This record gives sequence, structure tokens and C-alpha cells, in this order.
Amino acid sequence: MIIKKANPCGFCSGVKGAITKVINLIEDQNIEKPLYILGYLVHNRFINDALKAKKIKVITEEDIFQIKKGTIILTAHGTPKKTINLIKSLKLNLIDATCPKVKHIHKQIEKYLKDDYQVLFLGVKNHPETKAITNNYNVSLITLDDLSFPKEKSKLVLISQSTLSYLDYQDVYEKLTLLGHNITKAETICNATYERQKAIIDAKDADLVIVVGDPLSNNTKMLAFVAKKYNNVDSIRIENIEDLNNYDLSKYQNILVTAGASTPSAIINEVLDILQNTFDKKPYKSLLNLEDYLKF
Ligand code: SF4
Repeated sequence: MIIKKANPCGFCSGVKGAITKVINLIEDQNIEKPLYILGYLVHNRFINDALKAKKIKVITEEDIFQIKKGTIILTAHGTPKKTINLIKSLKLNLIDATCPKVKHIHKQIEKYLKDDYQVLFLGVKNHPETKAITNNYNVSLITLDDLSFPKEKSKLVLISQSTLSYLDYQDVYEKLTLLGHNITKAETICNATYERQKAIIDAKDADLVIVVGDPLSNNTKMLAFVAKKYNNVDSIRIENIEDLNNYDLSKYQNILVTAGASTPSAIINEVLDILQNTFDKKPYKSLLNLEDYLKF
């Protein structure tokens, strides 16, 4: 059996930047404590558990009113402006860990709205990135399951969430064009997402793709989806090596291991190490600790 690691896979620059920012804040004596994160910094429970162990609390918008002192960190996915204004009005400290690629999408939307376009935003309903965008801007949300929207303007532009499948973006663009819409393309899927999906699509010899990542992570979900839909191979999603105890992999000859942009390197390496060296020794057991998840 051949076990290969997809290249690239795992942490992207946005996730590394967000984690680095938070670690620096923990160590910075000039930053008012406690530290709070408004939602999950990134979509990976191991990282969030490691941050909790460093006394960082995850809060919701309702919790903001109870906070008397400290610093609130905004997550990599972006935050509605009304929430930011609320934090400012309560005179609480604010640190923005939004990924620059997500900020770029906000800027693109602003630019097209200013040029009098109707912005069609292709996103995942209720994902924090989509929520921030639909709260901040007058966009028409469309999803892969529902491409309908009321046409209000003659100029249309198609913008997408950073972590969708780039092939689906193209499919949606073509479908809308076939329906008679004249649409400007402004693909905003981030490079990290594109490269991780492309590495799967190029791995034509794999008969199984194992995707390591959190169930909440959209880019992780997309990797498994791309493998099935565009390469027509089996794919399995796991959070860490222990989830593989539930599968019989013996029927596969050529396994590709990949991971979402918020999956710690330590988890990916442990999966590869066990599959390559002690494949026959079930049950698989993770030996990682909380500190391992924050390393890159
Ligand atoms: S996946 Fe893309 S948008 Fe999300 S944090 Fe990474 S670089 Fe930023």
C-alpha cells in the first residue's frame, strides 16, 4: 500500500497568522487580560482546546455585555460591523485576527457595490464568513443548493466565500450564464483553498483520500467533496488518527492524506507516521498533547 501526503496541505498563512497573533497577545504584558475570542479563532477543536488551556475564553455575541475588562479577539473568518461597533461602544479592547484574504473579499464587495453592481455572494449559509458579509453588505446570497435570487440591477458580479470549491464556482458561473445572466467573474477563493483542492485533483492515481480536519471547517469539507465529485474516489474525513479505528483500509492500494487549512501539522504527521509505519497495529492512539497543536 502506498501512502502519500498531498502538497500542500494543512495550515495556511491566515491560520498561522491568527495563531501567532493570539500567542503574542498572551505573552504581551501591555495587553489587558483576560483574553476572549468571539467564536472559534479557527475551525479546529484541538487548537481551540489548546487556547482554552492558556486561559482564553471563547464567547458569543450575547456574552459581550457581561464583560467588564479585558481584550476581545475577532476570529479569522471576519465579524459583522455591528458587533465591532458594539464592542467599541462598550469601550472594550479589540484585536482583529481576520484573515487578510477575507478582508480582501470585503474590499472587493465594497468596490463592486460602489460601481452599482448587484453582488451575488456564493457562500455556505450560517458560516461565520457568510454571516459577516451578509450582515455588512447588501448582497444576494446564493448557495450551491439554491442559485435563485431576485434580479435588481443590470450589472451582476459573482463573488464567493474564500473556502468554496473553485470548480463549483466555475460550475455556478456557467449555470447562471446559461440562464441568460450576464455576469462579471470575481473569483475570491483564496490561494490556500485552491492549492489544496488542486493537489487532490492532480492525484489521479489515489484510490482513497483521507482528509484530516474539523467537521466545522468548510475548506476541509470541500477537500473531501472535491475528491468524490471531481476525482470519483472514496474519501474519509477524520479529526485525528483515532477516527481511523472505524475504517478498514486494507482494500485500498494508493492512499492520499490531505488536511484542511486549520489542521495542525502534528495531527497530520501522526496520521502519516502511523499509516506508514504501524498500519497493522490497531487500535490507533494519538499521543499528542495540547502544546503540539499550536506548533508549525
Ligand atoms: S483558508 Fe484562506 S481565507 Fe481561510 S484563513 Fe486560510 S488563507 Fe485565510
